[in-house]
Amino acid sequence: METKCFVCGRTDKDVVYLNCVHQGQGKLVCVRCLPVLIHGGH
Ligand SMILES: [Zn+2]
Repeated sequence: METKCFVCGRTDKDVVYLNCVHQGQGKLVCVRCLPVLIHGGH
């Protein structure tokens, strides 16, 4: 599986990624984008 944040597209090896489900699909999100998801972004 490719390690890539579905929000920002980051693929850095030194960044922590978390598994999540978005629109019914399992995806990875980096910790930098996590606050954006939590707070709703936009
Ligand atoms: Zn990200």
